[in-house]
Amino acid sequence: MEKIEHIGIAVSDLEASNKLFAALFGQAHYKMEEVAAEGVSTSFFKMGESKIELLEATNPDSPIAKFIAKKGEGIHHIAYLVKDIKAEMRRLANEGFTLLSEEPKLGADNKLVCFLHPKTTNGVLIELCQEREI
Ligand code: ZN
Repeated sequence: MEKIEHIGIAVSDLEASNKLFAALFGQAHYKMEEVAAEGVSTSFFKMGESKIELLEATNPDSPIAKFIAKKGEGIHHIAYLVKDIKAEMRRLANEGFTLLSEEPKLGADNKLVCFLHPKTTNGVLIELCQEREI
């Protein structure tokens, strides 16, 4: 894995949180993007080499809605940048980690992504992401 690409934070009101985190970081978000397949609206802040991704549910069945109902707002996942997501998925499956999808999915920010089940990673939801080649 290359670096922490971003940290995902579940929020219940993206507009309010955009203002809150802009005040906290001293800079505004630089983009917003909806990932309809995952039922989320996202907003990104630059943080040096990494990013902070705010996630708001767009429907009640969204994983973010379920997360907030169970645990409240807060840190939702840590995303690691990888060069070859399929190779990393194979490697981690062989190491005994549970992958949440068999194939990489399209994520926000032009990335291919795959999540690891938190039950195999000490309760931390891990996202692997790879830059998509266009
Ligand atoms: Zn993410």
